[in-house]
Amino acid sequence: MVTKMPEGWKLVVGLEVHVELNTLTKMFSASPVDFAGEPNTRVFPIDAGLPGTLPVINREAVTAAARLGLAINCGITERCRMHRKNYYYPDLPKGYQISQYDVPLCHDGWLDLEVEGRQLRVEIERLHMEEDTGKSTHVGGAGRLQGADKSLIDYNRAGIPLLEIVSRPDIFDPETAQAYVRELQGIVKALGVSDAKLEEGSMRCDANVSVMRTDATELGTRREIKNVNSIKSIGRAIAYEAQAQIDEIEAGDTIFMETRHWDENAEVTSTLRRKETVADYRYFPDPDLVEIVSTPEWVAQLKAALPELPRVARERILASGVGEAQTATIVNSDLIVVFDEAVATGADASTVGNLVANNLVGELSEQGVSLEESGVTGQHVGELVKLVEDGTLSNKMAKEVLAGVVEARGQKSPSQIADDRGLKQMSDTSELQTIIDDVIARNPAIVEKIRGGADKAIGALVGQVMGATKGQANPGMVNQLLKAAIDG
Ligand code: MN
Repeated sequence: MVTKMPEGWKLVVGLEVHVELNTLTKMFSASPVDFAGEPNTRVFPIDAGLPGTLPVINREAVTAAARLGLAINCGITERCRMHRKNYYYPDLPKGYQISQYDVPLCHDGWLDLEVEGRQLRVEIERLHMEEDTGKSTHVGGAGRLQGADKSLIDYNRAGIPLLEIVSRPDIFDPETAQAYVRELQGIVKALGVSDAKLEEGSMRCDANVSVMRTDATELGTRREIKNVNSIKSIGRAIAYEAQAQIDEIEAGDTIFMETRHWDENAEVTSTLRRKETVADYRYFPDPDLVEIVSTPEWVAQLKAALPELPRVARERILASGVGEAQTATIVNSDLIVVFDEAVATGADASTVGNLVANNLVGELSEQGVSLEESGVTGQHVGELVKLVEDGTLSNKMAKEVLAGVVEARGQKSPSQIADDRGLKQMSDTSELQTIIDDVIARNPAIVEKIRGGADKAIGALVGQVMGATKGQANPGMVNQLLKAAIDG
């Protein structure tokens, strides 16, 4: 269901998404990009803004920016520059951020989305390149600057390449905002230019939210909600903010441009600061950096080399027989590599889809590991599906084996785990037949009932056989053999 606005009101949202690139080095220095480094150990003189240092732009970062631009249907500007955006923050040692101003590298794109059965297009105004700031940690109080005892600054992040993707105010409900971020995240991951984790800040989303009366012709004043760190929160923050603005306007208050903070626990937004306007930043071209020239040949080459994008992958996986929910889970994650690899081993796509999107996802969350940490590959999944298909493992055993593969961090194959744990369906019919004959002989009353037409009573006998085989018999086979013995 799409969140409904109160009668007579319309919600308008534009999104600004920042993506931290996973290049080897920073945007303007040779300092390594290392998210796990000890604080302030990945800081070159340029990142610290020391006088006399000169930036050199990272070609890989520009390439990643252009690739993402093309993937979101943008045009690539032939000649553009970097600008200085001047403002002072303790985590910005130069006193300005190198960004782009009037002419971004990529412009006028769009994303096509399906939201609750509706086909929508959200237009993208621009994608520009910039650098990240350092990271402040406020100690004491609630972890925010206000009320903190002191602030610690880590400049490892300063200068990491950052892309900013700005949508047009083309989003009219929280669900579309969520779908937009999810799609963008999928595209970024497919390109491999960032791990795009909202929770860890490698992808960050700011929402510009305004409301207007349905008969109004001008957009209302927008307020910006900063750094909401999950897709669920993006929806909630926008819905909350819209209602808050409507309440304020209806109470006779005026909405001012401001930056607001989303409180994850209280689920409310509150004023952080009055918003700066463009004039406050005193943008000017960075004289230390040369123009960036994108030749049509280079752009064509990048375009031709784009990988399969989520929209195309989604259609392909759906067409292979995987359900819609499973397809969505697979496409919007690293699972797609595992899925494709498993299907390439010859395993049935829809079975692989279920195993990956349901069982594997469940097991990873239960053991609290990422797919990467688990070491699970498409080879493992393909083998597991085959062990179920040839009757070696029951579905229940397959789940247990999968858990074992995750526990072994992918160092053991499904058949090794099955051997280790003695998991194997009994497929030796003569051994099973002996057990069945014994169960039938010991339960004449139940057998009579079944012969009299009480089909369901067979369940009790199946249970006894399963018990006698310690759960290792194939239930389908037990059922068949029991029926044959009773009818015979
Ligand atoms: Mn920015």
